[in-house]
Amino acid sequence: MPEPDTGYDPTLGRKFIFVTGGVMSGLGKGITAASTGRLLANAGFDVTAVKIDPYLNVDAGTMNPFEHGEVYVLKDGGEVDLDLGNYERFLDIDMTFDHNVTTGKVYQDVIEKERAGDYLGKTVQIIPHITDGIKQRVREAAVGSDVCIVEVGGTVGDIEGMPYLEALRQFAHEEDEEDILFTHVTLVPYSKNGEQKTKPTQHSVKELRSIGLQPDILVGRCEDKLHPDVKEKIALFCDVPTNAVFSNPDVEDIYHVPLMVEDEGLDEYVMEHLGLADEALPEGERDTKWRDLVTRDKEGTVKIALVGKYGLEDAYISVHEALKHAGLEKQVNVERKWLHAEDLADGHDGKLDDVDGVVVPGGFGSRGTEGKIEAIRYARENDVPFLGLCLGFQMAVVEYARNILGLEGAHSAELNEETPHPVIDLLPEQKDLDDMGGTMRLGSYDTELKSGTLANDLYEGATCTERHRHRYEVNLDYIDDLEDAGLVFSGTAGPRMEILELPDHPYFFGTQFHPEFRSRPTRASPPFVGFLDAITSLQGGEN
Ligand code: GLN
Repeated sequence: MPEPDTGYDPTLGRKFIFVTGGVMSGLGKGITAASTGRLLANAGFDVTAVKIDPYLNVDAGTMNPFEHGEVYVLKDGGEVDLDLGNYERFLDIDMTFDHNVTTGKVYQDVIEKERAGDYLGKTVQIIPHITDGIKQRVREAAVGSDVCIVEVGGTVGDIEGMPYLEALRQFAHEEDEEDILFTHVTLVPYSKNGEQKTKPTQHSVKELRSIGLQPDILVGRCEDKLHPDVKEKIALFCDVPTNAVFSNPDVEDIYHVPLMVEDEGLDEYVMEHLGLADEALPEGERDTKWRDLVTRDKEGTVKIALVGKYGLEDAYISVHEALKHAGLEKQVNVERKWLHAEDLADGHDGKLDDVDGVVVPGGFGSRGTEGKIEAIRYARENDVPFLGLCLGFQMAVVEYARNILGLEGAHSAELNEETPHPVIDLLPEQKDLDDMGGTMRLGSYDTELKSGTLANDLYEGATCTERHRHRYEVNLDYIDDLEDAGLVFSGTAGPRMEILELPDHPYFFGTQFHPEFRSRPTRASPPFVGFLDAITSLQGGEN
């Protein structure tokens, strides 16, 4: 019988680490996986990652960030799960849309092929057609890397995850044993009498085994480090060596997870298992940038108001992280104060009095916009540093039009179709293109920076490249009036206004793009660094 065509090409990626989760979701499986990757990168390996999202959506673009967390945007415009943001930040790599495998994508391929007659005469089935599609996507995303970390979203036992786990089982069967490692992340809760309980872990490993997967490494999420006896018990029941059981205790800062798992020897164990130990940089030559950075001393604290919707932190995770990165660079602690924009609509009522800076992040929909405009007015009039991102940039234009140009009722056409002054609107060519309201501008684009401006200073050059996710633009009809009244558009891309600033303000800076998506712990984003810079110099001035 001829071999079935599995799409298998043994010359693709070299080593694979599959990460599954047990007991419950939200255990920080992605952070554990990304931390493992960071350590391998420190040891000199090229690491990439794939996030598998077993949901039926093709991408995360239409998912509600307040249910699912932020929609992260990649340089190629892919709209993906926020976990990919963690991989980009931890590994300092740029991923592509192909690094996010969703059930929607896999089924779409298979159904398109079926319609095109590619499977003529055959019954199209989950095994082998869907599982082949999964394996092929994982292999393609791994090309060129030494190690590809593949995180399976959800929890073992979820119906949606089944085809993926079966695909991984086949994958392991097809590859050399030495090229594959399975890590299972589970919960080790405390009982009422203070004992670390291993039963949930045992059950979830049993579940994994019933589908033919045996974990090589177990990581126990727990409040504290796993007790040596507990490690031994897990090892015995789950059939792994005791030194393959690792703790992932609660930490204040997720950037400390790589240090913690390194202290337990996770990296050494992984490299040994994958046959990479001989190629790894010797201990003394490894990259210590991460450790040095996240353990650096900080002095003082800046308090930043984040004026958003409902205040679910996961919806603004990249903004949160970008502020943290700037804090690492400036060696200052960043405290965030979450403010519900809706609560500020009729005046901020003292809620902004104790903050050193105001950030108005991106968003869609009109809820809370009056509160955002109010926060911007407050920051502008009181010389409080302000950073506006995407919708925050657009609202800064609206605020300026209303309160400085005196254009009553000025607004974004997205949020009020009837506004007499649509200072934010679709560009004429967008209107002609698409009567669905214009297509979204997604992914990386260049911005030209005017010389002599703050933007030019911050980015140290004549252009910057940042990621976008928006539809509306500053209306060309109002630009002259806005500029005559003092607003400076210091970054542009053709007819599009990309950056605004106010020269006579300590820091009033807005970007139509989302600089937060390119910010990394080791390379903080210039607009965020400038923001904290302005705040710390104001604080310095007070002393
Ligand atoms: N809703 C606005 C637009 O589409 C802003 C989008 C955003 O903040 N990401 O232009």
